Amino acid sequence: MRDAEWMDRTLQIAREALPDAPLLVASAMSGVTNLLQELATCVGTGEAGNAWQLQERLKERHLVTATRFLTGNNLARCLGTLDDSFQELAALAGALGVLRDCSARNNDAILAFGELWSTRLLYHRALEQGLDAQWLDARELVKTDDQHGAAAVLWDATCEATRRLAHPAPGRLLITQGFVGSTLKGVTSTLGRGGSDYSATLLGAALGATEVQIWTDVPGIATCDPRLVSQGRTLLELSYREAAELAYFGAKVIHPSTIAPAVAAHIPVLVLDTADPRGPHTRITAQLPHAGLKAIACKKGLALICVDSSRMLLAYGFLRRIFDVFERHATPVDLVTTSEVSVSVTIDHLEHLDAILADLGQLGSVRVELHRAIVSLVGQDLWKESSLLPRAFGAVSPAAVSMVSLGSSDINLSLVLGEADCDEAVRRLHHEFFGGTHAAL
Ligand code: ASP
Ligand code: MG
Repeated sequence: MRDAEWMDRTLQIAREALPDAPLLVASAMSGVTNLLQELATCVGTGEAGNAWQLQERLKERHLVTATRFLTGNNLARCLGTLDDSFQELAALAGALGVLRDCSARNNDAILAFGELWSTRLLYHRALEQGLDAQWLDARELVKTDDQHGAAAVLWDATCEATRRLAHPAPGRLLITQGFVGSTLKGVTSTLGRGGSDYSATLLGAALGATEVQIWTDVPGIATCDPRLVSQGRTLLELSYREAAELAYFGAKVIHPSTIAPAVAAHIPVLVLDTADPRGPHTRITAQLPHAGLKAIACKKGLALICVDSSRMLLAYGFLRRIFDVFERHATPVDLVTTSEVSVSVTIDHLEHLDAILADLGQLGSVRVELHRAIVSLVGQDLWKESSLLPRAFGAVSPAAVSMVSLGSSDINLSLVLGEADCDEAVRRLHHEFFGGTHAAL
């Protein structure tokens, strides 16, 4: 939501859903979480002047929006709430700035303000329009562990709290924040950047919703990231598994965790375009879609690690020892391939890379390639089309491919190549399979 006009569009969409007892889960106004992150960084480094300027910018943006579409007492009440909230932020930023302490926990407390403000604006605007609206504090609904920055959701507690506190009804608009939650002790936490989509499916699943609609600024999930390939087409239907692979392997439209709660509760997830509500959109369901390639995604900033060891020959338990290393350093592994004497994996969390390499060094000779990218071709029954591999390799050549993985799930063919070759490879693959005179598989 960029401004008052976008908030109105959002409310128009919610208004149309009123007969279906909607819960509106909103993210911050666009760019706000990034500014809050800058603020948190300034707090950590003790740059008080910059921190103050950022707060003024944020305040101005929200106050301008409020005055643009609210009037009278309603405006006064909204400004009062926002003012309290900005004072709270100033006190927090001031105290943490003195301590130069921006731990993950305090970072979360700062980032959460964006959603608290945006939903206050939406709520007061809904009242202004005469809607029966209720503002709910997501910190009371979404319960998480204390892994601040990307907290894990405690499902049973979330479900219990949500059912107890949120009572959707036809004609009533419930409004709450995406992205934020709190620990069992009530400390504010967040679900990771882009986490509002995930909040929506979580709350939808907790309430037994019939549908979760994710309103973005692009026409659903496309055959390719529109920033890379402008001719990308909206995918009208996707399976949960395809959508999850795409989200995980780089399609930025939805947060990678979004699909899981919907799968468990069998809820269809729609991805729609706020700017064109009746335009093409993506419907994600459990239904097995038709076979063939659906989309291409990519993810950069990875490391490829190869461990070679003659000790692996005919040994057992070797893979476990390798994966133990990643587990010890709390680092998820994305792709894996093995031969009799070597194992290659990719990781995208590089914080503990040095320690991981040192530990793997005990098990064999280790090679690491940095600045790698994964290009993923996602679709149903990819193996059934024997021309897929030759066409894919032909399209990316002459870029060097350093690893290939066609998951056992048969819905994701991933190629690992250099980051610098990634965008061009994606464009060529898209052209090969979707573009120009070439028909898609
Ligand atoms: N506001 C949060 C972010 O920018 C969450 C979201 O937008 O989904 O990451
Ligand atoms: Mg988003």
